[in-house]
Amino acid sequence: MRTSIATVSLGGSLTEKLAAASRAGFDGVEIFENDLLASPLTPEEIRGRCADLGLTIDLYQPMRDVEAVPVDEFGRNLRRARHKFEVMRRLGADTVLVCSSVSPLAVDDDALAAEQLSQLADLAQEFGIRVAYEALAWGRHVSTYDHAWQVVEAAGHPALGTCLDSFHILSRGSDPKGIEDIPGEKIFFLQLADAPLLAMDVLQWSRHYRCFPGQGGFDVAGLVRHVVRAGYTGPLSLEVFNDVFRQAEAGPTAVDALRSLLVLQEAVGVAELPAPVVPTGVAFAELVTPDAEPVSAVLGALGFVRAARHRSKPVDLWQQGDARVLVNTGPAARRDGTGLAAIGLESPDPEGAARRAEALLAPVLPRRRAREDAPLEAVAAPDGTELFFCATGRPELPDWRADFEDVQHTPAASDIRRIDHLALTQPWHHFDEAALFHQGVLGLDAQESVDVADPYGLLRSRAVTGADGGVRIALSVGAAPADDTVHAQHIALDTRDVVAVARRFRAAGGLLLEMPANYYDDLAARFEFADGELATYKELGILYDRDAYGEFRHCYTRTVGRVFFELVQRDGGYRGYGAANAPVRLAAQHAARRLTGG
Ligand code: MG
Ligand code: MG
Repeated sequence: MRTSIATVSLGGSLTEKLAAASRAGFDGVEIFENDLLASPLTPEEIRGRCADLGLTIDLYQPMRDVEAVPVDEFGRNLRRARHKFEVMRRLGADTVLVCSSVSPLAVDDDALAAEQLSQLADLAQEFGIRVAYEALAWGRHVSTYDHAWQVVEAAGHPALGTCLDSFHILSRGSDPKGIEDIPGEKIFFLQLADAPLLAMDVLQWSRHYRCFPGQGGFDVAGLVRHVVRAGYTGPLSLEVFNDVFRQAEAGPTAVDALRSLLVLQEAVGVAELPAPVVPTGVAFAELVTPDAEPVSAVLGALGFVRAARHRSKPVDLWQQGDARVLVNTGPAARRDGTGLAAIGLESPDPEGAARRAEALLAPVLPRRRAREDAPLEAVAAPDGTELFFCATGRPELPDWRADFEDVQHTPAASDIRRIDHLALTQPWHHFDEAALFHQGVLGLDAQESVDVADPYGLLRSRAVTGADGGVRIALSVGAAPADDTVHAQHIALDTRDVVAVARRFRAAGGLLLEMPANYYDDLAARFEFADGELATYKELGILYDRDAYGEFRHCYTRTVGRVFFELVQRDGGYRGYGAANAPVRLAAQHAARRLTGG
């Protein structure tokens, strides 16, 4: 289906919004009146700009408080409409959105509403314009889609149809099944938005919290299926009012937006994409650092050994069990300091995974490699993390491990088994985008979003996981852009025995994050522990949590650059990430940073 986006969904000037929509690959736009009013371009120039960019103008909006009003008021509304239609003619827009009235002057009289909308449609017709009537969820007398359709049907005017908006329909809990009773040709327009499920005033919810389909809690795909069955053939158009998106750069938001429509069309069954290839494990985590010493010291104290070295790049492979950490001192490190730059994901079909990622607009990375290196498939996640699709130890496929030459070493201690999860801090403006990316592109399942108190703000966190727990990525974001740099990334290592690993780490000179005594007093009140158990946790800074499935013990190393390690011990199928302990951990990290200035 054709894709469109309302200019109000993007940040920037009208010119910037149009350029971003075009670059992302949208077919058309809805021009929001305020964007036109604020633009120095004439309607003719905007029309020309859109044509140059390959964008159709699918809708002009909004026109408010038109119908079911006293006759002299309606006369003024028609005068206002004539002026708008004149602008639309210059713009080359042929459909106008009319929202159901919220005016205190409007009366509860469907026959009058139908009669006046019919007169409006008469006038529109003189300009070659169609009127799409939409029920606002907070409309004064018309607030549901079926009611709006009844009014349109009663008017029986060829230039009057209805506009369906997934937010207005789903926020009220209306059953979208009835959409199938509307003749497809009378659905003049379809606007799509998702939203997190919040208990709040619907107007505020709509104006500030809409998000792209797949990012919230509504079944937008289910609604679109009904609209398609009704016979609608117009564009799928995104109309998303969102405070964060408005402040973000238009370019990446437009790509995020179009990706949501691609995933949606796949779900609805009106478009085909290369099938998702769900990663089955973490092949490696790659740290870049200008100075290998501090990171290597931490890895060594954790019991990792330097097992191999890349043949053509300054990259060491540190390994213990199936946990592999690459330490890269190449050019990227000198630019960005110490951080987590790349993740290798074990994939049953690396090429297929890359094909899907590319179809979903993920930037495919140029292969920065020497001629003899394995041709690895890699794409960039929205936060810039490079994702490599790997086939470790599968002779029939290119193997990243073959680019490494073994180094003589004594076998590592084996209390660390694998990477349990990776925690990636997202740029402030791209949290929802990141969750959708990991679901849509990688085929991972997104868990519930949780809010975590931080002494200096609030952290939102959402995990995306593979079905078998082989891949777990915890995405998080602070409350404001300034938090981007504060919250570091971490690599969580799965241990057989967290106490043993923590002790050995400390004995080898490693620094563990210390936790306050109050935390352990509280633990003693909440749970029962064996004699001396709690004293051991306190000594090593080990945190404890329990869910319906099992127990979780975890502790943290001090931060190097923007990265730290977490040691975790999951027993009995514990599913979480210790979110209950996160406020204490964050406070401890803030305190440690103040002490060391680092
Ligand atoms: Mg709307
Ligand atoms: Mg963690």
